[in-house]
Amino acid sequence: MSDPTFPTPEEAGWTRPATIGRDRFQVGDLVALDGRPGDWELMAYTPKPGRWQVEPAQSGERDRDEVHMSELRRLADAPQVRRGDLVLQNYPEQQWAGEVGAVYRLGRWVAETTRQTPGGRSWVSLEDVERLVVVTREQMKAAMCVEVQEGVHRGHIVQAVVSRHAGKFRVRCECDPGLDICRTGRQTEWCGNLASALELWEWHTSNKSDA
Ligand SMILES: [Zn+2]
Repeated sequence: MSDPTFPTPEEAGWTRPATIGRDRFQVGDLVALDGRPGDWELMAYTPKPGRWQVEPAQSGERDRDEVHMSELRRLADAPQVRRGDLVLQNYPEQQWAGEVGAVYRLGRWVAETTRQTPGGRSWVSLEDVERLVVVTREQMKAAMCVEVQEGVHRGHIVQAVVSRHAGKFRVRCECDPGLDICRTGRQTEWCGNLASALELWEWHTSNKSDA
């Protein structure tokens, strides 16, 4: 919980660079504190020189405290994602980026992520940090999703954002819900460019005219 008596640097009309000092800690870092058990999250700078607001890295209600930067210790196994990051699971089929909230240990590092449907519904998942890749809004915006239609066929050509298939395209049609179109077998057929994805779409619509 945030301390209502303590303004954030923004509220105080006070800004600082994104990193500070020799160790270059930044907001969202998970750290250890000298002489205190557990993991802690750096929540905000304070207007007081060298002082940070911290919260215990755990789920649910958390009590905010204030410490001096000399008490901060790097974690040897600090997770690679932090609060506010946009992430995808490292699978080529992943299309919906989530925003990272709390990050804490549950055996392994896990992150609470919030995703939103285009309709505005949102849901929270708990995800293994090892599976997450940080992406940018630009990357997500640039990933192509083309609607295609031919006769009774209505489909999508979707570009992968992460994994070894990043940048490649797969093709789906409503007549095979849950499956990507493939000329051989049932594995996804990844196309290196949009033209070859369109060829795959044409193959599908001309070979499945009875759908
Ligand atoms: Zn179809």
